[in-house]
Amino acid sequence: MDYEAYFRSELDTLRREGRYRVFADIERCAGQYPRAIRHDAGMAREVTVWCSNDYLGMGQHPKVLAAMHAALDRHGAGAGGTRNISGTNHEHVLLEHALAGLHGTEAALLFNSGYMSNWATLSTLASRIPGCIIVSDEMNHASMIEGMRHSRAERRLFRHNDVADLRRVLASLDPAAPKLVAFESVYSMDGDIAPIADICDVADGFGAMTYCDEVHGVGLYGPTGGGVTERDGVAHRLTVIEGTLAKAFGVIGGYIAGSAAMVDFVRSYASGFIFSTALPPAIAAGARAAIEHLRGSSAERDRLHERAATLRRRLDAAGVPHLPNPSHIVPVMVCDPVLCRTISDALLDEHGIYVQPINYPTVPRGTERLRITPSPVHSDGDMDRLVGALQDVWARFSLRRAA
Ligand SMILES: *Cc1c(COP(=O)(O)O)cnc(C)c1O
Repeated sequence: MDYEAYFRSELDTLRREGRYRVFADIERCAGQYPRAIRHDAGMAREVTVWCSNDYLGMGQHPKVLAAMHAALDRHGAGAGGTRNISGTNHEHVLLEHALAGLHGTEAALLFNSGYMSNWATLSTLASRIPGCIIVSDEMNHASMIEGMRHSRAERRLFRHNDVADLRRVLASLDPAAPKLVAFESVYSMDGDIAPIADICDVADGFGAMTYCDEVHGVGLYGPTGGGVTERDGVAHRLTVIEGTLAKAFGVIGGYIAGSAAMVDFVRSYASGFIFSTALPPAIAAGARAAIEHLRGSSAERDRLHERAATLRRRLDAAGVPHLPNPSHIVPVMVCDPVLCRTISDALLDEHGIYVQPINYPTVPRGTERLRITPSPVHSDGDMDRLVGALQDVWARFSLRRAA
């Protein structure tokens, strides 16, 4: 077989379908976000970033940077091993306490990413509980799907955020079988939010465990940033709350929170936890500084939600169609993969505005979009320039306008 030719022809398929991924080479500048430097063809130009998951700008927060500098100087660079073999640094222990405190759970467990925490926890629970059946929201994230697949457990889908369909699926299963209902709080591409209390009611009625991915909720919702589960007063009802340290908390890493026994079970059986080197202590210190700051301060959250509301109003006034939702995510719908890429390029090249196109398989075909993520650091002037640029490309490409 001509392997190289095969690789090239598969890549050509992606290009033809308009879903070949091109990285924007971005140099983030601490203290300047949302401004960044874009490197392209030997040139360096200033751009404004409108598609980052550093939702609150915590990636440049002085308290986070100070904690990381201090921990780096005190503890050095790496963790030195897996958690079991010399890698458990005191910073990990402190961070796990902070995470359990954030969610009001008995315990929490760190992973090297949110992807890893979903993959390892779902695959471990579903494979280690004999006969476990997973009931999964059809829109769940790739990391959850991969974990469920790897478990080889039986898996049933329920219609997205549809509690009646969840009940139907659960009712069709053997009442004696162990079950796990897996879903997200905030769905990151449409920005819609799950009816968590209702899902818990139904799951409880069938004796099922509940697993909630709060990756796009933690730090952003609830009085202390505990996520939608905190906002809705239901954190104690979930078997597993899973989150990331890489989005609202601005650093890197993932975790689960729940009962002491569940967390100890995953700690003891999950290959993806056991056999991977622990996060650097400075990362753990930075994440803890972000969590503690956001537990005590709602200013960033309040400003985020105000910015999202303001951007929506301005898009409405300009006739730029966006998907309505109750979250901080503003999806501007293009519904064509090639056009989505073309518009994104025009915004970047001509207006210095960086919004990555979101195409299949991240979203279903025909729902390609620009996923705009306003943050507390985006000013009114930034919004003026964004909306002006969108109006310009909307006119130039004769795109569909909102009524
Ligand atoms: C980003 C994301 C993850 C993965 O988290 P990382 O910390 O980036 O690995 C998991 N779930 C959802 C819904 C996500 O959007």
